[in-house]
Amino acid sequence: MEIQLIPAFEEARRIILETVEPLGAERVELLESLGRVLMEDIVAPWNLPRFSNSAMDGYALRAEDCEDGRALPIIDHAAAGGRATKAVAPGTAIKIMTGAPVPDGCDSIVPIERAEEQDGAVRVAGAVTRGQHIRLAGEDVREGETILGASRLVRPYEINMLACCGKEHVAVVRRPRVAIVATGDELVELGKTPGPGQIVNSNAYSLAAAVSGLGAIPVLVGIARDNLASHREKLAEGLKADALITSAGVSVGDHDLVKKVLEELGVEIVFWRVKVKPGKAMAFGKREGKPVFALPGNPVSSTLTFEEFVAPALLKMMGHKETVKPLFPAVLQGELRKKKGQTQLMRVRLEYSGGKYLALSAGKQDTGLVRTMMEANAVAVLPAEREFFATGEEVQVHLLGGEVGMTEL
Ligand code: AMP
Ligand code: MG
Repeated sequence: MEIQLIPAFEEARRIILETVEPLGAERVELLESLGRVLMEDIVAPWNLPRFSNSAMDGYALRAEDCEDGRALPIIDHAAAGGRATKAVAPGTAIKIMTGAPVPDGCDSIVPIERAEEQDGAVRVAGAVTRGQHIRLAGEDVREGETILGASRLVRPYEINMLACCGKEHVAVVRRPRVAIVATGDELVELGKTPGPGQIVNSNAYSLAAAVSGLGAIPVLVGIARDNLASHREKLAEGLKADALITSAGVSVGDHDLVKKVLEELGVEIVFWRVKVKPGKAMAFGKREGKPVFALPGNPVSSTLTFEEFVAPALLKMMGHKETVKPLFPAVLQGELRKKKGQTQLMRVRLEYSGGKYLALSAGKQDTGLVRTMMEANAVAVLPAEREFFATGEEVQVHLLGGEVGMTEL
């Protein structure tokens, strides 16, 4: 008999992450790069600030001229976008607005609030520190400096810097096309009212939404019916994408054909079954480096196996360094008994109270019940070796939804 590898929860994720690699680069418009990972080093084409400019609305003058509180005639005006035509001569001032280039001859800016203007002259109350309120050319970024490196996540802040550097287009890691194949004779697509014994193919939509949420591109291939020919057609179609996710048909039922047909199509099944609940029946395979995730059919199982196993892989394919959601402690409310030898993923609702997160059960934990998934905002990852959890115990949780990788640098 063939020895079947049934990995532990963490081991399964490790195997998956070892299998996938970041995809290649593409050039996109700046705004398209949001949430994606740079594939090029960005060299500053010019200094930032581009020119020395005023940090305040005020007066450009020489610090030493303010010592005796004398009136300095205002000889010119400088607004942002323009510049003074004159230089600040000793004993004079130029009125200047924030962002205007600092005129020649001055060494300081005095804010309007700290000066008194009368009859075309300005008088400064109090001491002036030479250089105050001047933003020096290049003090933020020097021309020629590598300001952003390849593999950097692009957030709105990086977008600001890229725009400052005039980058209309940047090279980022390509977004994977992720095919989704649902299997089952009981499924109908949205738009049709399910007949007797039928249900809507909801998994395809939730998986597509989860794929989009990560920044990847879902490709809905449709429904493989529970016969070999239909499976062959849909799975072959799905294998054209960068990654394939299937739903259902991967258990031990009479009509569970996914693994068999995947193997027929040249997919190497790396493991089938994981020591985790929900998600036990999941299979993972690869064909020429392309990952194939055969997820269980129960809606909660497919959602959570996506969260725990598929999302990290897709994030790695998109070049992210941080691919797994961080765990943090929460205090369990209510007791729980689980089976030893498998990790349990419990849908919980986190509430912040008294300086701690409390983890409350989000409701009945059956894997067919979609409502509990909606009520949950986190997952408690209950370790395989434990059997009983008492109320008040600390458990490890991670958030549901949202993006991982958004804190990486
Ligand atoms: P299976 O693994 O094929 O035995 O399916 C397990 C359970 O998941 C069954 O109750 C199916 O009806 C349900 N299921 C299968 N596919 C889907 C789907 N695409 N959307 C919602 N539920 C599904
Ligand atoms: Mg089925």
